[in-house]
Amino acid sequence: MSQDLPSAEFRAAMHRVADLLADYLEGVGERPVLPAVAPGDVAARLPVAPPLGPQPLDVLLDDYQRLIEPNVTHWNHPGFLAYFAITGSAPGIVGEALAAGLNVNAMLWRTSPAATELEERVCDWLRQMMGLPPEFHGHINDTASTSTLLALAAARHQAAGLEARTRGLAGRPEVPPLTLYTSDQAHSSVDKAAIVLGLGHDQVRRVASDAEFRMQPAALAEAIAADRAAGRRPLAVVATVGTTSTTSVDPVPEIADLCAEHGLWLHVDAAYAGVAAICPEMRARMPGLARADSIGVNPHKWLFTPVDCSVLLVRDVANLRAAFALVPEYLRTDEPGVTNLMDLGFQLGRRFRALKLWMVIRAFGVEGLRERLREHCAMARELAARIEADPAFELAAPVPFSVVCFRARMPAAVAPEGIGASQDRLNERLLAKVNAAGPFFLSHTVLNGRYTLHAAIGNLRTTRRHLDELWLLLRRSEAELAGETVSK
Ligand code: PLP
Repeated sequence: MSQDLPSAEFRAAMHRVADLLADYLEGVGERPVLPAVAPGDVAARLPVAPPLGPQPLDVLLDDYQRLIEPNVTHWNHPGFLAYFAITGSAPGIVGEALAAGLNVNAMLWRTSPAATELEERVCDWLRQMMGLPPEFHGHINDTASTSTLLALAAARHQAAGLEARTRGLAGRPEVPPLTLYTSDQAHSSVDKAAIVLGLGHDQVRRVASDAEFRMQPAALAEAIAADRAAGRRPLAVVATVGTTSTTSVDPVPEIADLCAEHGLWLHVDAAYAGVAAICPEMRARMPGLARADSIGVNPHKWLFTPVDCSVLLVRDVANLRAAFALVPEYLRTDEPGVTNLMDLGFQLGRRFRALKLWMVIRAFGVEGLRERLREHCAMARELAARIEADPAFELAAPVPFSVVCFRARMPAAVAPEGIGASQDRLNERLLAKVNAAGPFFLSHTVLNGRYTLHAAIGNLRTTRRHLDELWLLLRRSEAELAGETVSK
């Protein structure tokens, strides 16, 4: 027996999957965001050995509903406000399902004409939506980490005289250390790219940010000058538009000036906030984007596209192609002028991710997407206003988009080990208490050395009613904890 399952069984299972997912999405908000499981609980309920004989899909779907669905963290929950809240929206899920059915591997134009051409078109839609000039070319990757890695590989390749692609960097004493610059707020994927590219983690300069968590151009200029003076070779700057902790926006125009002056590649990591450029008023908050050599934007973060989908926009796609194109005989094809997507990165095989992004953009429309982003930002501002107006809390950072960073203030009465440490402990306990209650999941960060709570609004099911509930829960939890602290 070597066939797939009978069509009738597949059809019935997919009908059931449609119902199961629609029911899940309708009811997800009634569940606790975090499942009540301890490490190892799920594994303990899974058979150690694989089944030798076949099992009907219906039984598998029963097990899915019993074992898997209740034991995930519900990222599609309206109370999921941790990290960057995301949405696997209905059109995105439809696109994912269809991509699974087609199962194309879009490595070459020949192996998937529609996937290749749709990817180019849909990335160009995104470029237009963000107001970027036509020379930017989009390429879809799994994650922003990959987009940053590809961008920095292109930077390394085009740097004059290095010949890193052919000769490598190891064992070449004539090549000075190549340095990267990014802010102290930038994502760790920049460090990982330096590690993978053989530049070395020690060559990443974490440039100081200002009181609003934006890279300081003067500090960047100093770091570049210091490296030059020490005989190192500055290679690239990674600016961030929408940093992971606070969504601050680095001053891209000033950074671009420094890159132009020193001949450095400028990559803008706009993984979360880049999509906000589709709203003209928010685009105005991220000037200079078009001066970047490359920009990473994740529709899977704040454009309602299921994980994974990150778009790398490069100003001159020839740089990416020069860094990566390599065609073995068994992949040689002869259609003139086509794009073979394998030429623009290190991966050969690739999923048909453009399909879900196409569905999302069409099903909501650009105006619909703008409205949804604006709504999230409005809700974030309202939450921030409540925090600011309440003496028991303080805002920890400006709120340029849909993320609010805040903390409980320390009751004036007690601070045995100093306000800072006590306040940190109070906020750690507050986060644990709020997350244990069930309806919400917030995360944390550290800003200026102080423990800070982070609430991100990015799920399409999150409404003002949820934020009212969150606010009540925060105030009640804070009052209980402060009461305990005072009475100790
Ligand atoms: N860049 C920024 C600014 C981020 O906030 C994140 C993740 O939150 C990343 C990059 C990494 O994203 P990915 O998981 O797509 O690699």
